[in-house]
Amino acid sequence: MKRVAKMVAAAMAVSAMGVATGAYAQEYPGSKPVTAVVPFAAGGPTDKVSRELTMIMSKHLGATIVIENLGGAGGTIGAKKVVQAKNDGHTVLIHHIGMSTAPALYRNLGFDPLKDFEMVGEIADVPMVLVGNKSLPPNTFKDLVPYIKANASKLSLANAGIGSASHLCGLLFQSAIQTELTTVPYKGTAPALTDILGGQVNLMCDQTTNIAGQLKAGALKPYAAMQSRRVEAFKDIPTAAEQGLPGVEVKIWHAMYAPKGTPKPVIDKLSAALQKSVADPAFRAKMAELGAEAVPAQRATPDSLRTFLGAEINKWTPVIKKAGVYAD
Ligand code: ASP
Repeated sequence: MKRVAKMVAAAMAVSAMGVATGAYAQEYPGSKPVTAVVPFAAGGPTDKVSRELTMIMSKHLGATIVIENLGGAGGTIGAKKVVQAKNDGHTVLIHHIGMSTAPALYRNLGFDPLKDFEMVGEIADVPMVLVGNKSLPPNTFKDLVPYIKANASKLSLANAGIGSASHLCGLLFQSAIQTELTTVPYKGTAPALTDILGGQVNLMCDQTTNIAGQLKAGALKPYAAMQSRRVEAFKDIPTAAEQGLPGVEVKIWHAMYAPKGTPKPVIDKLSAALQKSVADPAFRAKMAELGAEAVPAQRATPDSLRTFLGAEINKWTPVIKKAGVYAD
């Protein structure tokens, strides 16, 4: 009898939990804002994608989404904060390709991108361009490569920390030209760009979302698009492959995650709002203007992101292991 009572009590508890989650999910997002942690500095490329997205997504979700910039360690500090956040749908993470490279770069990462998060969906793909300070003598990528080889000890390459997109692109570039430069890490490429423009550092691989304005104004020397085809918004910048260096290709994808255990109905609401946002003409136009591309709505889903993140981890882990670079 006692056993039956215990079983009934357990069944009631489970169903009460279901009711609580169901009621919570129904009311979500409610009046409380959602915090989107962006693991890089304000004003940079990841921040720009995030601000454009959250402005539109707030409307589709029916809640204010506020951004919290938490830069450092290539995005891993911000990601860790979200792992530890309350899983009630009021904290999300917007991160980029670094989510797939961190497990190989950090031996003591402290979280598993696939297991410690709920996937919401992908957001946008952003190309990278290798740029330099205006006073650098070479005008073309073809001239830049021998110039770097001859002056490597005097030249510096900025990045947004180990595990950032700029770091990854820089790694591929240095490995392709078989020359190492002095690398200078920042908390994001926004502060790095200030120093490139000021001449304190010489070169950087950056996302077009950060440098579109400077490229249009001719404030930087653009050397090469680091992808297989020219960037639609910057057709005059040749690719590295066109200029004799094939294989240096990095597409910076961005996605949204929530802490593990965020209730599925809440994730569904977040993902539905994300799908509407990436299909929103205003968001698509803004991304195109910055040289980026909003993903099609079917990629802004948990399943698609899970498969894609897994494939990206499998793609980058051997590349990074082969390069023998570690952040810790
Ligand atoms: N996403 C940039 C990078 O990884 C950093 C940033 O957003 O500032 O290079």
